[in-house]
Amino acid sequence: MTNTDIAVIGAGTAGMTAAIYAKRSGFDVTLFEGYMPGGQIVNTGEIENYPATGKISGFDYSMALLAQTEGTGVSIVRKEALSVARKDGGFEVATAKGEYFAKALIIATGAKNRELGAAGESRLVGKGVSYCATCDGAFYRGRKVAVVGGGNTAAADALELARMCSEVVLIHRRSEFRAQKADIDKLRALPNVKFLLDSVVDEIVGEDSVRAIVVRNVVSGAKSEIAVDGVFVAVGQTPATALFDGLVKRDLSGYIIAGEDCVAADGVFVAGDCRTKKIRQLVTAASDGAVAALAAAEYLSERE
Ligand SMILES: Cc1cc2nc3c(=O)[nH]c(=O)nc-3n(C[C@H](O)[C@H](O)[C@H](O)COP(=O)(O)OP(=O)(O)OC[C@H]3O[C@@H](n4cnc5c(N)ncnc54)[C@H](O)[C@@H]3O)c2cc1C
Repeated sequence: MTNTDIAVIGAGTAGMTAAIYAKRSGFDVTLFEGYMPGGQIVNTGEIENYPATGKISGFDYSMALLAQTEGTGVSIVRKEALSVARKDGGFEVATAKGEYFAKALIIATGAKNRELGAAGESRLVGKGVSYCATCDGAFYRGRKVAVVGGGNTAAADALELARMCSEVVLIHRRSEFRAQKADIDKLRALPNVKFLLDSVVDEIVGEDSVRAIVVRNVVSGAKSEIAVDGVFVAVGQTPATALFDGLVKRDLSGYIIAGEDCVAADGVFVAGDCRTKKIRQLVTAASDGAVAALAAAEYLSERE
């Protein structure tokens, strides 16, 4: 069993920021990453909205943050946390590489965007397929895009994109939207927004970039190809939090319930996209990381 003061699960922006702050507060920190340091952003073509970095690729941003984290002396375990349980006043984290005992826990496991499952989708991510209008909308200024989804995120994305794109086609598999009526009314009043209801996207077409989508009407079965430059998928997110069931409270969608203080339970702190909050972006993940780490440091200092 390896001992550490603070275990941070997940090396995305939230986890790496938390690790930097916790280490700089004088604690021994072990950061666990099951896939690739950087998290969701690592495969993103370009980031334009993070302060002071200018335009930067998701990969370069992730590697810069990783280098900074490693430079502080944080121990990085490139293994998935397979189980986490309370033990002897702290927490036992099990990985395929062994068990770790931590006095405090920071959960920063993020979330994954749900995919449509359309042919061509995964191949064209970052090449016209996006899961984040706030992040990528500006790349489609003056161009025609599709938004897929029927909830509040899809409606908000369509409104945001309609301000800059020549045309927005909003595609929803049902005849009614789950999104707030006020937003749908605003969309209906916009001349550059078209609706395709009772419709699903079967295929996203293009070689190096998106060229068109193949849409099927679920009532008639009729298929049509529509030329678009981008496809924004807004069919929900799934937080990676099942592992912590019993340790923390989760909302109906699986997000760990905690306020802006990032305190989830006694000795457990939560940062980034896996926390209940409104805005899920790099800057809010970094902010959470700092808040969670300083709260964990305060918790440990009070116990000593
Ligand atoms: C395509 C795309 C483009 C985006 N573009 C932008 C943008 O331009 N600007 C912006 O501000 N935001 C953007 N975002 C949003 C941004 O990426 C997220 O808000 C941010 O990554 C959240 O950081 P996080 O650290 O909370 O979670 P994540 O980035 O999801 O990181 C969580 C990490 O935890 C790891 N993990 C999960 N479970 C375990 C486990 N059991 N054990 C060990 N490790 C585990 C994961 O592998 C992952 O590395 C984009 C998102 C996507 C999907």
